[in-house]
Amino acid sequence: MRRTKIVATMGPATDSPETIEEMILAGVNVVRMNFSHGDPESHIKRARLVREISRKVGRHVGILGDLQGPKIRIDRFVDGFVVLEEGASFTLDAEHDRDKGTKDVVGLTYKDLPNDVYEGDLLLLDDGRIVLEVTGVDGSKIHTRVVVGGKLSNNKGINRKNGGLSASALTDKDKDDIKLAAEMDVDFLAVSFPRAAVDIEYARELLKDAGGHAKIVAKIERAEAIEQPTLDLLIEAADVIMVARGDLGVEIGDARLPETQKMLIKRARELNRVVITATQMMESMIENTIPTRAEVFDVANAVMDGTDAVMLSGETATGKYPAKVVEIMGEICEEAETTAQAKKSHHRMDVTFKRVDESIAMASMYVANHTDIKAIAALTESGATTKWMSRISSSIAIYALTTSEKTCRCVNLYRGVTPVLITQAIPSPMEANRIAVEQLLEHGIVEEGDMVIVTKGDLLGIDGGTNMFKMIRVGEHDIY
Ligand code: PGA
Ligand code: MN
Repeated sequence: MRRTKIVATMGPATDSPETIEEMILAGVNVVRMNFSHGDPESHIKRARLVREISRKVGRHVGILGDLQGPKIRIDRFVDGFVVLEEGASFTLDAEHDRDKGTKDVVGLTYKDLPNDVYEGDLLLLDDGRIVLEVTGVDGSKIHTRVVVGGKLSNNKGINRKNGGLSASALTDKDKDDIKLAAEMDVDFLAVSFPRAAVDIEYARELLKDAGGHAKIVAKIERAEAIEQPTLDLLIEAADVIMVARGDLGVEIGDARLPETQKMLIKRARELNRVVITATQMMESMIENTIPTRAEVFDVANAVMDGTDAVMLSGETATGKYPAKVVEIMGEICEEAETTAQAKKSHHRMDVTFKRVDESIAMASMYVANHTDIKAIAALTESGATTKWMSRISSSIAIYALTTSEKTCRCVNLYRGVTPVLITQAIPSPMEANRIAVEQLLEHGIVEEGDMVIVTKGDLLGIDGGTNMFKMIRVGEHDIY
């Protein structure tokens, strides 16, 4: 069974019910609705289909809504694109007509950009394919010289080398999309380009006001976001972080990405947060039926680094083989999980635990990794206990037994955690052991004679109430 989770972006290539079913059966754990593209109706329709089909095939699939954020973009060209020559002058003009770009000048979506940039700044367009050096700013106009030229088409993104553009993290569109996300009852809401913890707190507040219950994902994609102490505060403000390698790579330079990815995954786990590694993991499979060797290594390395989930973007949203890419990615993950690096743990020897449920989770993992345990069954309301457990590297399967469908969809992002929905009432904590083991037996996870760990609270159904763990031999579970 695979521990690492797969997040797959929905798009035009995934619109048919057959494709969605194939993707879910191929092992998608969470689908991502990218609010940068498509209208509200299309997102609502896709979410509805995903829910219907996942229910039909009996899998829990989480839904992640991803806000566009203040991605700064150029406007459009008369002919759809221009070709910029190295050394030529090119102007970005906030007041230029939106559809009338030429090889000399183009409009801007973010009208304040001229106040944010200075002579000598390097502007990176289209994920860094085009590089412009600012030669001067004059009112609404940013004059530049083309350092790296090439084809530049409509609506391409702009980043500044080394970051520092001040556009606020939530645009008016994002605020509307937060309401949409609440209406769709998404399980995760991703905030793009946050600069600091306040951006996350603000999004959380707006979501709450709109009646939403999603966990918040902070996309780490600005140079200033990875500076300390900003980074730790940002991670702690969020429930999940995303290593958003596309925009982050443009801002800090691709060469710094591998070390930064490793640092971000490690830090997220240390701070008990969940982490998704994203962008171009299987890029060549947008067109091809097999990945490149470099992509195989990339996915495997992220798994060995300890990521909870790996993400597909264009590979599924607009790719030719949306189900196939999920299947192959899953195989790579599973194999990488067998390496010692992916399984070993240092067990936080030098850490003081702050909460009872956290302590129980850590004790369980210590025992699980040092005895012959077949599975861990955590009776959990919010999923918190299983999240702590999954911060510890292990090869022992963790089952989140919960009566909440929402919790099932959320824990589905956590490495090594498999949700099991309990539909029967649990009359007393004493009964809980028996019911937990019966669930594992029913799902074919354990057999007679296996040792399992069960964690639970004296008072079932209370968030964060886990306060005990038990080692039980299957077959003797009736006597507890
Ligand atoms: P995006 O975010 O796909 O929304 O741009 C991910 C990234 O920047 O890598
Ligand atoms: Mn991005």
